Amino acid sequence: MTNSQTSVKPITKTVYDAIVIGGGHNGLTAAAYLARAGLSTLVLERREIVGGCCVTEEIAPGCRVSTTSYIASMLRPEVIQDLRLAEHGLRMIPCDPAIQVPFPDGQVVPWWVDRERAKREFATISVKDAERFVCVDDQLKKLARYLQPFFLEPPPEIDTRSMSGWAELFRVGKRFRGISNGEISQLVSFLTGSLGEFLDHNYESEKMKTIFLANNVYGKHGGPYQPGTALGLLFHLLSGGEHQLQGFSGHVIGGMGAITQALAAAGRKLGVEIRTSVPVAQIDVRGGRARGVVLEDGSELRGRMVLSNADPKRTFLKMVAAKELPEDFLSAIRGIKMDGPCAKVNLVLAEEPRFTGTPASATPLERTFYTLVPSLEFAERCYDIAKFGEIPEELWVDCVISSNADDSLAPKGQHILTCFAQYVPYRLRDGNWDEKRELLGDRVVKKIAEYAPNVPGTILARQVLTPLDLERTYGLTEGNIFHGDLRLEQLFFMRPVAGWSQYRTPIHGLYLCGAGAHPGGGVTGAPGHNAAHQALRDWKRGRFKEVAA
Ligand SMILES: Cc1cc2nc3c(=O)[nH]c(=O)nc-3n(C[C@H](O)[C@H](O)[C@H](O)COP(=O)(O)OP(=O)(O)OC[C@H]3O[C@@H](n4cnc5c(N)ncnc54)[C@H](O)[C@@H]3O)c2cc1C
Repeated sequence: MTNSQTSVKPITKTVYDAIVIGGGHNGLTAAAYLARAGLSTLVLERREIVGGCCVTEEIAPGCRVSTTSYIASMLRPEVIQDLRLAEHGLRMIPCDPAIQVPFPDGQVVPWWVDRERAKREFATISVKDAERFVCVDDQLKKLARYLQPFFLEPPPEIDTRSMSGWAELFRVGKRFRGISNGEISQLVSFLTGSLGEFLDHNYESEKMKTIFLANNVYGKHGGPYQPGTALGLLFHLLSGGEHQLQGFSGHVIGGMGAITQALAAAGRKLGVEIRTSVPVAQIDVRGGRARGVVLEDGSELRGRMVLSNADPKRTFLKMVAAKELPEDFLSAIRGIKMDGPCAKVNLVLAEEPRFTGTPASATPLERTFYTLVPSLEFAERCYDIAKFGEIPEELWVDCVISSNADDSLAPKGQHILTCFAQYVPYRLRDGNWDEKRELLGDRVVKKIAEYAPNVPGTILARQVLTPLDLERTYGLTEGNIFHGDLRLEQLFFMRPVAGWSQYRTPIHGLYLCGAGAHPGGGVTGAPGHNAAHQALRDWKRGRFKEVAA
């Protein structure tokens, strides 16, 4: 399934109950929930296709690629069920192995979904670490369960000067009922500690540490020894998929775009109108109240509520006149850390990549997912180089041969290899990304060739998406894949900025419903779900009864 054009029909109303700016997966999720509650809802997407950075696009004739996001790991089971996404064509197959790391010495270590099998595999590296793995896995899963409920509700706004602030404190307290003193200290260490130190403390083998690294720092700023990186361990153990499995990750049949196509189909069935190729230039704000939007072609549309799926910087610094927002709010939005730090290289190949060390007996699914990062030290150095504006010679590359999980993605005999390059800067010290695009592509291919030597000679088509391309094409400010880095000071009640974490904004009737809001980036549907429910609570209180005039 390739994300298709949906837009030719004219807009049918002069006033909508809700206008959603952006048809990313969160905008579509929010719109579907709003329409399900009976609100007339319009989605306006600037690109010619819906999906944002959860799309399948054709990059060569008959070759379809998840051009940006590529693995479904955290899509909320509640969203899948509420919106009946399976009935709208969504099908995922678990990644098993969840990841695998080929090492420079030729050993390939898969992390199997079945824990006993994983333990046996890890014992080939270190028997002691394999035993430790089971204890650590239990500990992490238990801690992740405390965080899980926060994903589908607004974070608390704690202000003990008011009764409602105390009620919020009570709500948080209830979530941690039964937690022990020891678990509280463990949670605090995860929130503030580094992944590297956690791994050094728990494992003796460098390979074992590298396997954990490979699964846990995606898309974030910071090398593995940066404080706050340990939190990724818990994020990856939230339940996902249709069956609520902890730590689930899946290959989506039809590519990631099948998720947003299913969301769009579910929304349309519930009455959502979706229009593409309609960039919104401005949010119409008068008297502190959102009254609709102005499109780039100058036409105006009125909405009783407006929800923005665009990132916080794009929403508040580009679409709202500065005079409508308090200066301290604007200053906090300007301070959100974005700035890269990753890129994508998508390849069409004339034959399947052959990764050295993969056993001849491996099934196609077992030959699908490879993470090329040899050690924590390598990753730390790679981040340091990128931090100073340079493209590391040696890149950390995640490779998914998606045609092995779904052979409908390419003509028979051809293969799709989608590659995520971790740690590249948005701001280059020398030159610009238009000049350096192919250099990045070459470095990614060179790295892959060290592990799968047949790849360079078999490339039929190559698409390189630099951080600048992610900004220009997909609308991600500074190329940030999460609409704001996932770091402690930008999470929970501090996302997008302190004081505004509950999807409302300083403008009455304007909500943020994308990854820039709690709980953040990744294809989860959670910000869209939560923002829609918050807007609906306000709607039911009668806050938007008057027609936007
Ligand atoms: C390269 C890359 C790899 C990733 N890999 C993974 C992965 O494997 N697994 C995973 O879970 N997550 C991954 N992510 C992260 C994940 O895809 C995103 O965090 C998530 O999709 C964001 O969804 P969203 O709906 O909030 O925003 P977006 O998908 O960014 O959607 C926002 C939409 O708003 C539109 N828009 C913006 N401004 C306007 C305007 N003025 N008018 C109209 N429309 C507008 C945009 O065009 C876009 O369609 C990846 C992201 C990238 C870029």
